[in-house]
Amino acid sequence: MCDHGGVLAECLGVARRAHEGQVRKASGNPYIDHPVDVARILFSEAYVDDVDVLRAALLHDTLEDTTLQKDEIAKCFGERVLRLVEEVTDDRTLSRGARKRAQIAHILTVSDDAKRIKMADKLSNMRDLIHCIPPGWSLQRVLGTFAWCRAVVHPSTVGRASPQLAVALERVYADRFLYESRLHNVIHRDDREVASLVEQYLRGFEDDAE
Ligand code: ZN
Repeated sequence: MCDHGGVLAECLGVARRAHEGQVRKASGNPYIDHPVDVARILFSEAYVDDVDVLRAALLHDTLEDTTLQKDEIAKCFGERVLRLVEEVTDDRTLSRGARKRAQIAHILTVSDDAKRIKMADKLSNMRDLIHCIPPGWSLQRVLGTFAWCRAVVHPSTVGRASPQLAVALERVYADRFLYESRLHNVIHRDDREVASLVEQYLRGFEDDAE
């Protein structure tokens, strides 16, 4: 990926082992494809060549979704990488809905590097959703996911951290959201209607027993 290939390869190995056996809900592809995509987006679309940021991208879901421990990350890759991963990790003491809601406010408090990782994360997730909708998802949930992702990495709040990713996010948001909305004749015309869609989406998780 860059001239720090050896270091990234070691990090990729750790991430791959941590996510071993996990698959993406929609495609059934190995989960590791997602963190690799996030690192690729940062390097090739946002021109990020800071190896610590790229390593944190490869590890960004490990604290949340795997048994990899903080001290292992710090020992192998240093305190800065651990801090970045922590910055993009949800508070696991909260319910699923509360975690999703908290992301919207939390992103305002993190470093620009963490903002860039989160932007690449949401871009990767939204692009995946364009290619493949998880089985059983309603149109409302798909549109809610797009609207919520955009609320987390809104151009007016995080756009300055990476103008390139802000443009890419707006493009993917507009492509899918407007297309789907028009196709199904449920156009959300203004910010207030989109905000209410995000609210409905988040309430859906809060009502969820899981
Ligand atoms: Zn992710």
